[in-house]
Amino acid sequence: MTETQHDLQLQPEMPPTRWGDPAHAGPLPDGVRDLVSLVFPLVETPAAAEVAVPAPALPADLVDGLRELLGEEHVVLDDAVRRNRTRGKSTPDLLRQRAGDLADVPDVVVRPGGHDDVQAVLDYAAEHRIAVVPFGGGTSVTGGLAVERDGYTGVVSLDLGRMRSLLALDPVSSTATLGPGLRGPEAEALLAEHGLMLGHFPQSFEFATIGGFAATRSSGQSSAGYGRFDAMVVGLRAATPRGEVRLGGTAPSNASGPDLRELFLGSEGAFGVITEVTVRVRPLPEVKEYEGWHWPSFAAGADAMRALAQGDLLPTVLRLSDENETAINLARPDAIGGEGSAGPGGGGCLMIVGYEGTPAAVAAKKVAVAAALTDLGGTPLGAEPGEAWAAGRFNAPYLRDSLLDVGVIVETLETVTFWSNRERLYAAVRSALESALGEGTMVLCHISHVYATGCSLYFTVAAAGGTPGAGGEGRLDRWLAAKTAANDAIVASGASITHHHAVGTDHRDWLQPEIGDLGVAVLRAVKRELDPAGILNPGVLIP
Ligand SMILES: Cc1cc2nc3c(=O)[nH]c(=O)nc-3n(C[C@H](O)[C@H](O)[C@H](O)COP(=O)(O)OP(=O)(O)OC[C@H]3O[C@@H](n4cnc5c(N)ncnc54)[C@H](O)[C@@H]3O)c2cc1C
Repeated sequence: MTETQHDLQLQPEMPPTRWGDPAHAGPLPDGVRDLVSLVFPLVETPAAAEVAVPAPALPADLVDGLRELLGEEHVVLDDAVRRNRTRGKSTPDLLRQRAGDLADVPDVVVRPGGHDDVQAVLDYAAEHRIAVVPFGGGTSVTGGLAVERDGYTGVVSLDLGRMRSLLALDPVSSTATLGPGLRGPEAEALLAEHGLMLGHFPQSFEFATIGGFAATRSSGQSSAGYGRFDAMVVGLRAATPRGEVRLGGTAPSNASGPDLRELFLGSEGAFGVITEVTVRVRPLPEVKEYEGWHWPSFAAGADAMRALAQGDLLPTVLRLSDENETAINLARPDAIGGEGSAGPGGGGCLMIVGYEGTPAAVAAKKVAVAAALTDLGGTPLGAEPGEAWAAGRFNAPYLRDSLLDVGVIVETLETVTFWSNRERLYAAVRSALESALGEGTMVLCHISHVYATGCSLYFTVAAAGGTPGAGGEGRLDRWLAAKTAANDAIVASGASITHHHAVGTDHRDWLQPEIGDLGVAVLRAVKRELDPAGILNPGVLIP
């Protein structure tokens, strides 16, 4: 097929101090305000009003050189555009933006139109020692866009937003080649024109991009049925300072030595810029059904998830909130502070189970899963909790902004381990966060992704802020100390520092214990080979 070009307008931008579409932002709902004010003092903390964006540090002749490569209109020095490409969307990122801290602002934003443009920028940057930060949707929550500046002539944000095409489709093999700058909904819309879907729905779906998903080994809310993003990738193309690499894409699998695709999946822009991603696609589901199940305890629900995973009975969506998360209805951000959703007798834990596919496949899976869950001690709650979760599945980040507005610390973190280590890890991370943040801290958790051998734990933390004020400096310091304690607890528990948020700069110091000195040496050797001048994302990923 011929290339389908998405319109090449600048995409709508998120505000620098908040998540998402400003039209969806709003004050804290009354129910949440009442609930939170029982535990924490609420202090209005508006963002700093006027922020002076530092002047670009890249010498003018080098800016001119970039203009010659890409054309005047694709080399952007505008303050607002540069500010919007400063760091990502973690709570520390938002607090720094709210405080007017723009120390990491890129000097220039360049907008390549295709692989050759990207290659030309990398060649030029290597020649002139310019640091290059690939920018997809800017949704990193691990400091993946906050690079080291020292020793470079300047920092260029390489915005992939013009590379938003469906480049090829092979309906017989069920593969599609996508441009890296396509946001989640755009990719799904292009595939839907052919009756197909990808099925990758992280909570950042609305703004994160195909290239970003690949670069961070993202995992979506339907991973039980559709798998994590790296498992969807059958091939990719990348530009590196040493030239082009094409990995995979010739066969579904092979035994041609180690799978070099894996070197780029999760490489977080440190080895090259992913310019094309070939993914496996599947037919659009005809039916989508979501339901709730009640469990007497987190442990009982977790055991049931394990039984489904190990019995090859996974539905499309499978999530389990712990008692705390269930009690405040975080599975349903629209209903926080309202009636408890735990079901019979209050308390207990809410599981969301979703089925997608053909009517026959959904009906058969539903019967089999329901029989297994009933045998294991679960109580069906019907469709209402599941439909409510599906309707509000992308809302929680907007709630975080509203909580940040009233001085609360709120942030999430995630990890993954084997089933046999789940309880130890859960207890260790909770205890670390509660000790670091003190009395009244709310630590909520859900199991977000499951495998036959283990699961991912996703924590949401809310705590009283520190010193009030526009910057929320107290909050930032308090959170960074708590995050360090949680990271230490994760490593001490023998779990992985990240299941799907990636390493960035925030987790870099905890990577060595996980992969060892030789592992770090291998990463450094690959970096030296592909990026000898070290211009790509300096300081990201590699210890
Ligand atoms: C509210 C919220 C919810 C989230 N929920 C989830 C979730 O459910 N699941 C999940 O997995 N993650 C989640 N994330 C994390 C984030 O969305 C992912 O890390 C995402 O995959 C990054 O995609 P992006 O396009 O925004 O990349 P960016 O943030 O722009 O970049 C991320 C990193 O990848 C590099 N990079 C980006 N594009 C390329 C490319 N084409 N080639 C090479 N390097 C590149 C960047 O330089 C950076 O180091 C969430 C984040 C937020 C803020």
